[in-house]
Amino acid sequence: MGALVDDIRVIREENPFESMMSRFDNAAQLLNLDPDLYKVLRVPNREITIYIPVFMDDGRIEVFTGYRVQHNFARGPAKGGIRFAPDITLDEIRALAAWMTWKCAVVNIPFGGAKGGIICDPSQMSQAELERMTRRYTAELIDFIGPERDVPAPDMNTNEQTMAWIMDTYSMHARHTVTAVVTGKPIDLSGSRGRREATGRGLLCVTNEAVKKLGLKVPEARVVVQGSGNVGGTAARLLYETGYKLVALSDIHGGIYNAKGLDIPDVMQYLAKNNSLELYPRAEPVSNHELLELDCEVLLPAATENQITSHNADKIRCRILVEGANGPTTAAADEILERKGVFVIPDILANAGGVTCSYFEWVQDRMGYFWKEELVNERLQDIMVASFNDVVKYAESHNVNNRIAAYMLAIDRVAYITRVRGIYA
Ligand code: NAD
Repeated sequence: MGALVDDIRVIREENPFESMMSRFDNAAQLLNLDPDLYKVLRVPNREITIYIPVFMDDGRIEVFTGYRVQHNFARGPAKGGIRFAPDITLDEIRALAAWMTWKCAVVNIPFGGAKGGIICDPSQMSQAELERMTRRYTAELIDFIGPERDVPAPDMNTNEQTMAWIMDTYSMHARHTVTAVVTGKPIDLSGSRGRREATGRGLLCVTNEAVKKLGLKVPEARVVVQGSGNVGGTAARLLYETGYKLVALSDIHGGIYNAKGLDIPDVMQYLAKNNSLELYPRAEPVSNHELLELDCEVLLPAATENQITSHNADKIRCRILVEGANGPTTAAADEILERKGVFVIPDILANAGGVTCSYFEWVQDRMGYFWKEELVNERLQDIMVASFNDVVKYAESHNVNNRIAAYMLAIDRVAYITRVRGIYA
């Protein structure tokens, strides 16, 4: 009986939607949110489930399940990535969609929130199969996406190529080229300079601010990064180039550790060649689990959800936790980290560099005029630093932790605009 109760607690703790909602409820209560607004803001606007038939290369038809959850449109078109993975659930997509609403509000850009996903194992599919699946998914969403409606972007296991297929499919149906329907496109296809690096660059900006605030020094600050994909790999490289000491890095197979510091360009070259960090010669192996518990100044989880939970939060030894991934920390772990005095830069602030640059891409597409990379990076830095300061000041003045401050700030902004627009009830 005891075991069953324990299992239920674990499952709930690791349900990202419940983690998101518990923070939302906490923040809404502290804001004294009007009960009618509370009812409206705690649910998504629309949830779409799509069954996607795809001709596989051997001639069979496989039917995949896909989702698009459009959480909120109050501040502008919905915005959010699309991920491909075998273990996607609707609750995960719901949580990620809501996080997009709060994230866009934290950095004060004129978007709502959405997220999509297809349950599939992209490592087992050919490019042609991925293309057919992406195109059919897009075709099913034709009435729901668009530059003024909902603007997808890449996420786990999707990339510039995926976005190009979505843009092309949407454009074929619209009978003209519509570049602003997705962001994260290749630069030659009306993408933005700096977009590929933007999430990592945003993480660098907020890490620099936190390091300054805590009186730490860059060269002595040891950094541990979990995940070496678009977010983790780029953040590791930019932090390394800034002078931080990167002591550990991982991918899904495990991690590598070197107390003297890793040579990140060498590590990334090894990863590109071998598709895995396993057996990298100039470091010791560590598991993803051990990596999170390493002694360091900055811990940057940039892989997936539920990495820091009530089971390991007590063993986390960083001063600053910079959430590169969405939802790497469960709500139950928040309390433990707060008690330990860890300075948390919550996901909806820390990794907002990607959506901020996506906003720049959408603006450039609609203008048909493209900016220099320096200008993109400068505008990104301005927004990230201002948003960091907004959240930290809000936390200090309301005596709450940074995560709840970010939620309060975001919910307040969305609630305000919802009140001004009025509820069409
Ligand atoms: P990616 O697919 O490029 O990289 C993911 C990395 O994490 C890879 O190194 C992979 O091996 C590793 N990984 C995957 N599952 C893991 C697991 N269970 N344990 C340990 N490592 C694991 O994805 P990405 O675009 O870098 O996204 C990573 C996270 O950042 C996700 O949570 C995503 O939602 C979030 N995010 C991405 C962006 C973006 O612009 N790409 C923006 C904001 C937030």
